[in-house]
Amino acid sequence: MSNEIARRGILLVLSSPSGGGKSSIGRALRVTDPNLDLSISLTTRPPRESEVDGKDYHFVSDARFDEAVQGGELIEHAVVFGARYGTPRAPVEAALAAGRDLLFDIDWQGTRQLRAALPGDVVSVFILPPSLAELERRLRARHADDEATVWSRMDKAAAEIAHWDEYDYVVVNRDFDLAVASVRAILAAERLRRTRQTGLASFVSALLA
Ligand code: 5GP
Repeated sequence: MSNEIARRGILLVLSSPSGGGKSSIGRALRVTDPNLDLSISLTTRPPRESEVDGKDYHFVSDARFDEAVQGGELIEHAVVFGARYGTPRAPVEAALAAGRDLLFDIDWQGTRQLRAALPGDVVSVFILPPSLAELERRLRARHADDEATVWSRMDKAAAEIAHWDEYDYVVVNRDFDLAVASVRAILAAERLRRTRQTGLASFVSALLA
């Protein structure tokens, strides 16, 4: 499917309030797309029951997180819901150079920092829920959080949504399959962006030779 012209990788950021669907959309994208890897963040929050260390997150202590920040290992980091989260720098640089795309499930604070660090490489998509009532229903349906956490996440949803206008694209996740198809279309178009296709000049020279 993909053309054979060399290109830089894309840093595809999906943000939404908790329960907005970014994780499920990301999973669906990756099932059909062998060129899309997941950026695995460091976090100081404890793992949920279903989560696997090294797959969902690197679950680390505060001391280890400090060390990563001080050593410049993180390309961005932020406090979300009282826990610390950060993106390891090395996989980002490797993916860009290899022309592989990386998917990020990070919040608006992380998106800002990532865009500031690598302005030409970030493609950001904000996933909106169709309504706050539906958001609350989805948060409860996943049974991952206790009641207090659900309320706290609902409280913070409005604050996260307030940053919708800092994103390149906005997708309303009313119908899951349609939302996945929309993000897939964004990725397909962004892969063809001229400035990303580093091999174009030599391809065209050969074409005209
Ligand atoms: P959760 O604890 O539900 O997995 O994630 C809570 C929030 O932290 C989500 O909004 C998620 O996007 C955000 N998050 C996860 N990893 C990172 C990261 O590395 N950096 C930033 N800035 N936010 C993150």
